Amino acid sequence: MIKGNCHCGEPLNPAASKFAEENGVSDAMCPACIVISKPRLKAALDAVLNPPLNIADIVIEKDIPLPGVRKAGMFTELFLKMEPGDSVFLPGVERNACKHSQDQLRKTHNFRFAIRKVHENGKDGLRVWRTE
Ligand SMILES: [Zn+2]
Repeated sequence: MIKGNCHCGEPLNPAASKFAEENGVSDAMCPACIVISKPRLKAALDAVLNPPLNIADIVIEKDIPLPGVRKAGMFTELFLKMEPGDSVFLPGVERNACKHSQDQLRKTHNFRFAIRKVHENGKDGLRVWRTE
């Protein structure tokens, strides 16, 4: 198997290189250059690179966390520990993710919060201040 880049600079694709070798094309070319060199191979190469979905190959997995989904009120306990003037940085958190906790603490404890979108230490997120 040839490793490295095509003459055009694109990385070589192992599956495409194997296909090229089997079809009498230089296996040192990227998929795009293989098609340029032999346009009639395009459909066959596409089929190799994007094989049809085989339902039998799909694996059912358990306990993969769903990104971006957070329990309503998950911040309540944290916010409850804050005193007026305190703030917390919540990396990767959207405003609506902490809204439930803030609404809850406003009703039950008369807490007030201010929220700003911030970028801190290379991460986007929210900074939440308890104001009252
Ligand atoms: Zn190329």
